[in-house]
Amino acid sequence: MSTAVRGRFAPSPSGRMHLGNLFSALLAWLSVRAAGGTLALRMEDLDPDRCREAYAAQLAGDLAWLGLDWDEGYGKGGPHGPYRQSERTGRYESAFAALEARELVYPCFCTRAERLAASAPHRGEGEHTGACPCRELSAAQRAARAERRRPAWRAAVPDRKVAFTDGVLGPYVENLARDCGDFLVRRSDGVYAYQLAVVADDGAMAVNQVVRGQDLCSSTPRQLWLYEVLGLTPPSFYHVPLLTAPDGRRLSKRDRDLDMGALRARCTPEELVGFLAFLAGQQNRPEPCSAWELAAVFSWEKVPRGEIVVPSSWPGNL
Ligand code: GLU
Repeated sequence: MSTAVRGRFAPSPSGRMHLGNLFSALLAWLSVRAAGGTLALRMEDLDPDRCREAYAAQLAGDLAWLGLDWDEGYGKGGPHGPYRQSERTGRYESAFAALEARELVYPCFCTRAERLAASAPHRGEGEHTGACPCRELSAAQRAARAERRRPAWRAAVPDRKVAFTDGVLGPYVENLARDCGDFLVRRSDGVYAYQLAVVADDGAMAVNQVVRGQDLCSSTPRQLWLYEVLGLTPPSFYHVPLLTAPDGRRLSKRDRDLDMGALRARCTPEELVGFLAFLAGQQNRPEPCSAWELAAVFSWEKVPRGEIVVPSSWPGNL
């Protein structure tokens, strides 16, 4: 008997969703619903400076407007709550303590960018490729520096390949030390980093399927290593294409014309779902349809692998 699918959508409530976020949300929802599984909505509000409850409420409202429901999580509760990361600090402390007990983390006294990394799960922010020089500090040097500055904490990754097969992209491999480096697990202000929190949460919530944007694919090897050292069972991964504007720019929360406020003013839920389903290869034309109609015909095989350009003529005369 196959295991029931447990998926999740895990947005950061730091702004209004745009078309790209919706695309990931729709695919996460379709994959779970097509398999008759369970979907959780978890708010990744780790960063108190950027996340707002008003955005979380708006996000849940926007998903509901589109016809995307969830079984556990935000506003609903469930067996694996709480479903807000800001309320799960104790779990991250335990995961961190487990890493510390095995000497898999070390304090990092470097300044600047890494302090922001808990809010930045995307490559290039707060990362050293290779080991940080702080890894080599002696106990006495650490103690001396700790008197002047509260350290951030990094994972001490091994010089080892981690490979997995992505449901969209196929085989993917990275050498942790070379391609990723010692990544942050806790900021100097005590806020736990995305990488640690997401693994602790997906593990504790028994999530066995992760669907998210391709910008997070390169986070997966280090997350798989965390699953391993924390003794958790990893999910399967589907990294879905990013949407870009016709000029090649990746859509972001700054693209107001394609955020949910603008989209809701201009189209019906069925028009929006139909258009996203067209981009996702699930129908040949951007014809209006409901999310549930799509769930009946959904197939991962039809999802394109690479970036998807959003035609400038939409919404409008497609
Ligand atoms: N919270 C992350 C984001 O909004 C996504 C985390 C994930 O799906 O693993 O970028």
